[in-house]
Amino acid sequence: MSVSDGYKAGYIAIVGRPNVGKSTLLNHLIKQKISITSRKAQTTRHRIHGILTDAQSQFIFVDTPGFQMRHRSQLNQTMNRVVLQSMQNVDVILFVVEAGQFGREDEQVLEQLPENIPVVLVINKIDRLPDKLQLLPFMQKTADLFDFVDIVPVSALQNKQLTDLIETIRRYLPENPPVFAEDEITDRSERFLAAELLREKVFRQIGEEVPYSVSVVIEQFVLEGNLRRIHACILVERENQKAIIIGKQGKKLKDMAMQARKDMEVLFGSKVYLEVWVKVKSGWADDTVALKSLGYE
Ligand code: GDP
Ligand code: MG
Repeated sequence: MSVSDGYKAGYIAIVGRPNVGKSTLLNHLIKQKISITSRKAQTTRHRIHGILTDAQSQFIFVDTPGFQMRHRSQLNQTMNRVVLQSMQNVDVILFVVEAGQFGREDEQVLEQLPENIPVVLVINKIDRLPDKLQLLPFMQKTADLFDFVDIVPVSALQNKQLTDLIETIRRYLPENPPVFAEDEITDRSERFLAAELLREKVFRQIGEEVPYSVSVVIEQFVLEGNLRRIHACILVERENQKAIIIGKQGKKLKDMAMQARKDMEVLFGSKVYLEVWVKVKSGWADDTVALKSLGYE
């Protein structure tokens, strides 16, 4: 395909403070669950590309970890750097805010927006506004803050106005042949995605009890015909966190593994046999005592 065919392809960064719904928006835009979402801020630590391809255009989305201004830890600094980098090499930026809410954290992200790339203001969670009449003044107020090329109110969760948003983005994509094959939805490896899906379940199940020090490692990922055999390990810092994750009679771990396995089966389009272990990163010799979760045995 040559450029003269009018095909468009480009990169789109999704930025905004934690919790505005960036990952949800990405998931719903590409209709696949590839980026993890959670009520807690900061669950997305890596850049994730999600790809939407249609007859006229290819949209390559970059979901970014939220800007974190409050805590200047090493992790946060690294994440902020990733966000800044991800804004530099894109064709369009979606600056996501929450309807009716514009605070200090939003402002800090706004200050980082580059001048030379079109920025679309996406007002998310419009379903949450108790009174729809509140939207217009909020739009007017935020429109004055920056030279946005467009403003699109949406509800990512309820798939409202997402088609409008896609058409808006399309206008700002450059003419290019597609970068990825049509059936690719992400350039992340399945191994990575499997870990992300499980990590999301851990965050959802455990709530406030376990800090962000939890990580997931895929120790084995084997393709056997139409079956993916996956061994995953949830790494925690302390013995008591292990107990929390496993739950009474292993119930919590079982639930998490089952939900993660279902998501993986949908995403990979195959059967998945998943075994999950919980290990304490630094500790005693019996660290590796673990529960086997249910695959579909
Ligand atoms: P991120 O930190 O910006 O990536 O935010 P997430 O995508 O993880 O979403 C944070 C929370 O907001 C989750 O509980 C989502 O379900 C919720 N959320 C996202 N979009 C919407 C929306 O359009 N409406 C409502 N009511 N909730 C939403
Ligand atoms: Mg996110």
